[in-house]
Amino acid sequence: MLTLYPDRCIHAMSRSSSPAARAASGDTVCFHTLDCFSGQLTREDQLLGGLDWDTINPATGPLYVEGAEAGDVLKVEILSIETASQGVMVDGPGEGAVGPQLAEERTKVLQIQDGVVRFSDRLSFPIRPMIGVIGVAPAAEDIPTNTPGAHGGNMDCTRIGAGATLYLPVNVPGALLAMGDLHAIMGDGEVGVCGVEVAGVVTVRVTALKACALPTPFLVMDDAFMTICSAETADEAGDSAILAMHTFLTGELGMDPHEANMLMSVCGDLRVCQVVDPEKTFRLEMPIRVAQAHGYTFR
Ligand code: CA
Ligand code: CA
Repeated sequence: MLTLYPDRCIHAMSRSSSPAARAASGDTVCFHTLDCFSGQLTREDQLLGGLDWDTINPATGPLYVEGAEAGDVLKVEILSIETASQGVMVDGPGEGAVGPQLAEERTKVLQIQDGVVRFSDRLSFPIRPMIGVIGVAPAAEDIPTNTPGAHGGNMDCTRIGAGATLYLPVNVPGALLAMGDLHAIMGDGEVGVCGVEVAGVVTVRVTALKACALPTPFLVMDDAFMTICSAETADEAGDSAILAMHTFLTGELGMDPHEANMLMSVCGDLRVCQVVDPEKTFRLEMPIRVAQAHGYTFR
């Protein structure tokens, strides 16, 4: 299997990045990823302030997908995610809603064993591995890997895990897919500024789709499909996710605009992905049976 290692990683999604590897459309590819701190934090006496920020949020890649051309959609089936056995969390005065109440920076190292992460003597959690950063090169200016947007990027969506299929726009030849910033587990919002940050291995199948009208980024799972949108404010991000879903329901499912709007109000769940990155990210989740009831099959 084609395997990419983090010795080839990027810190900005860019049309000018040279490909780390090339895959055919339909290939299965394995990405080994560092954690979002590039592995700099392995002990609790190592703090946020001591980080080399030039190496933060590495994304392994980019992968050039043969045949992907601007205007296509890149289908990324997430087949599996394995995490390392140790994760790390940080917080501090400058981060998140609680930040101003914190007197100092803190680092917490967490052990992961048999699919369970130990938070404290009192609390452990089954892991729910997810990909924080996954995206393609934008059409125009470079976008740092810490920033989400129409190209994907740092969406920090808890639903981007094994079994999900992510659809991203193709803006440049080959798409230039890159990913990193795995979390062993994270709550919606990522309110404290990070999840359980962890290195790992992601296996995906990549396919270039021609003439695909899905609004991107778009995610399909067994039980739901969803639009994912990022914007400067939470309000704008939420509105964008709603409007993108409305476009899908009226365009692809052929629904009447009022019916589609009311249906979103009946069974669409507007959820926060994250509120701590340079742009905020929201998603609108719809039950999969909405597509099934309209005879719609995702490619
Ligand atoms: Ca992130
Ligand atoms: Ca992260």
